[in-house]
Amino acid sequence: MTEAVALQVKSLKKSFGQHQVLKGISLDAHRGDVISIIGSSGSGKSTFLRCINLLETPTGGEIWVNGELIKMKNNRAGEPVPVSDKQVQRIRSRLAMVFQGFNLWSHMTVMQNVIEAPVHVLGVPKAEAIEQAEALLHRVGLYERRDYYPGHLSGGQQQRAAIARALAVEPEVLLFDEPTSALDPELVGEVLGVMRSLAEEGRTMLVVTHEMSFARDVSNHVMFLHQGLVEEQGDPKELFNAPESERLKQFISSIY
Ligand code: ADP
Ligand code: MG
Repeated sequence: MTEAVALQVKSLKKSFGQHQVLKGISLDAHRGDVISIIGSSGSGKSTFLRCINLLETPTGGEIWVNGELIKMKNNRAGEPVPVSDKQVQRIRSRLAMVFQGFNLWSHMTVMQNVIEAPVHVLGVPKAEAIEQAEALLHRVGLYERRDYYPGHLSGGQQQRAAIARALAVEPEVLLFDEPTSALDPELVGEVLGVMRSLAEEGRTMLVVTHEMSFARDVSNHVMFLHQGLVEEQGDPKELFNAPESERLKQFISSIY
């Protein structure tokens, strides 16, 4: 594999008991790629991202982050688990996830949320972490709100704070799981705007989204999942203008 591949997934599988949710999904994310993952509810989008971030352990396939294979073994119950907690920590710090719900720590201010991982996981000196966080909060338009608690922010502001927190670990790849789907419609744009600017500056991003305009206009590759498999994928404009699969045609018409 070449240096420029930030994330490589080979035939990823995941079962919960007898239920096989992911049936072999592969993906290559080169540096700067913005890959949108679309598909109906239940098609396995969140599970796919959660496996990449090791919030779930895959039951098959391989994940390579920046050329490093995540090693698995079977535990006593015969379920695959990562071999090394250290590796999990290291890999997680190379990836950062923004969730649908606003997963900020409610008892911490915006600033405290953003510096938490740099200071306590990466060991960045606090003063340095604060300086970096201030720049990130400017970036997402929340510098003025740095001392607010999440409960006093709008959903859009919380999600922008969550993006600043994700950026604070300087991740190789940013993972987004429907970051705008829990927002009031009038707040969606401010979050998409930040995501668009991250894409424009060349960040590698994997975005599960129902925002078809984002998928079409911002990403350079779209994957359509159906029942745990990639049903169709390709260049966004081609995919949306001339979908081949009947399921994708139906999905697109149901969204618009
Ligand atoms: P999507 O994000 O595309 O809506 P998910 O990845 O959340 O889909 O879910 C895909 C399927 O996996 C669903 O049928 C869901 O019920 C199942 N699933 C997800 N997480 C679990 C879990 N922890 N235990 C059992 N089944 C799960
Ligand atoms: Mg989901």
